[in-house]
Amino acid sequence: MTIGVLAIQGDYDAHKLRLEELGAKTLLVKKPEQLDQVDAIVIPGGESSTMLKFLERDGFMEKLREFVRAKPSFGTCAGAILLAKEVANPSQLSLGAMDICVTRNAYGRQLDSSILEADTKLAGGPLEMVFIRAPKISKLADDVQVLATYNGDPVLVRQKNKMAATFHPELSEDKRVHEAFLKMVREAKASG
Ligand code: GLN
Repeated sequence: MTIGVLAIQGDYDAHKLRLEELGAKTLLVKKPEQLDQVDAIVIPGGESSTMLKFLERDGFMEKLREFVRAKPSFGTCAGAILLAKEVANPSQLSLGAMDICVTRNAYGRQLDSSILEADTKLAGGPLEMVFIRAPKISKLADDVQVLATYNGDPVLVRQKNKMAATFHPELSEDKRVHEAFLKMVREAKASG
């Protein structure tokens, strides 16, 4: 099982490191054809509009859209923006893999690079969350499961074989979010 990490912009190395710490085999995906070699993908934080510019070349966007709709995928921050069905502030193109609406830079200076602790359904108590110009999940469909909230806002969600976080779990010591993702990937693989 190989986990791809989209590596066109942003903090992909931190995800790669964390996944490898947890025993996963990884591949940095820089070209669309590399998607054929991975079982799941992580889309890192960074700047979603910049990532889109790169994705719009060489049919990368179409290939990635097809991949994330079918295979286990996890988007953090800018990655969550890319996975969403709808993006606001401003509206922009996305992959439409999760039934959520994400508002970019939604917290203004309030959450401009903060480290907070918040409630989570993941076992093991409150979760440290690093927020960097974080988006807000402003709408979600009924079958989207909320796994963590901050101040009542969903910050970690799951829908079928997709996960999205508005914070950066790859920048905390706590490995539970990536563990949950790898568990989801293994389950998806086992069920064919
Ligand atoms: N503000 C960025 C965006 O809109 C996301 C920030 C991040 O990934 N830390 O893409």
